[in-house]
Amino acid sequence: MELWYTEEHTDDVRFSIKVKEQLHSEQSEFQSIDFFDSYEFGKFFTLDGLMMVNEKDEFAYHDMIVHVPMATNPNIKKVLVIGGGDGGTVRELTRYASIEKIDMVEIDERVVRLSQKYLPITASKLEDERVNLYFEDGVAFVDGLEKAYDLILVDSTDPIGPGEGLFSKAFYDNCFRALTDEGILVNQHESPYYDRDAKEMKRSHSKIKKLFPVSKVYQFHMPTYPSGHWLFGFASKKYDPLKDADLDAWNKLGLKTKYYNTNIHIGCFMLPTFAQDMLDEV
Ligand code: SAM
Repeated sequence: MELWYTEEHTDDVRFSIKVKEQLHSEQSEFQSIDFFDSYEFGKFFTLDGLMMVNEKDEFAYHDMIVHVPMATNPNIKKVLVIGGGDGGTVRELTRYASIEKIDMVEIDERVVRLSQKYLPITASKLEDERVNLYFEDGVAFVDGLEKAYDLILVDSTDPIGPGEGLFSKAFYDNCFRALTDEGILVNQHESPYYDRDAKEMKRSHSKIKKLFPVSKVYQFHMPTYPSGHWLFGFASKKYDPLKDADLDAWNKLGLKTKYYNTNIHIGCFMLPTFAQDMLDEV
């Protein structure tokens, strides 16, 4: 018998992965969590029926959320990760000896505990001594913070369910206040390809653009997300990722990466015309 995991990327498009076995299934306080083992993508998990992380393409997402801002400002010392329960974003951050503190605020402790059990490839650095885990709502966590972080990474689910507030204007306002004068915000920015994702991309960009002096969007290839074309938002109070990044300094760190490199750092901000047009419209 063949087992297949199928996800609806739109009402009319489905994406399927042949599965070896389902490893775990539960309904947590916040969402349904399912872990699988598969032939092509290795172990993976879904939240409310949407692919989050798998062993095969997680490197693209985690390289791009972390190394783009870190190459832009190598003096980042205090970092806040919101969401990111699989631990992959924290894993990449811990590779920088210069970072002093990494706070991770994940609403659902079960995602972290299950990732530690089934996905050590991403969760392996959550015990680093610079990492502090908070099992709280990221929206409430940033409320009232003042100039506390040099970098905030919003490694969130889509804007439905517990992730909805992480795409609100009030949340972005609070992130702005929570950042130092040189602060950078990178957020999961959906995709320009299918209408539903493109709508969220535009809504997010229109809110952030009004707040931050520098507001750009960059792309990467994520085979298991709808259309495979995914974006992060880069917003900053001071640094421009193209003009200010010290790419030679980043190369001298000698970090070995599988997706990110300093050519991609420049290239990822060059968006296809249809995507750039949509962002320019808002
Ligand atoms: N790379 C993934 C993607 O874009 O599909 C995201 C991975 S990570 C697993 C997303 C995490 O955000 C989930 O574990 C979820 O529990 C968490 N999350 C959702 N809403 C949150 C909130 N309001 N505060 C903190 N964490 C939240």
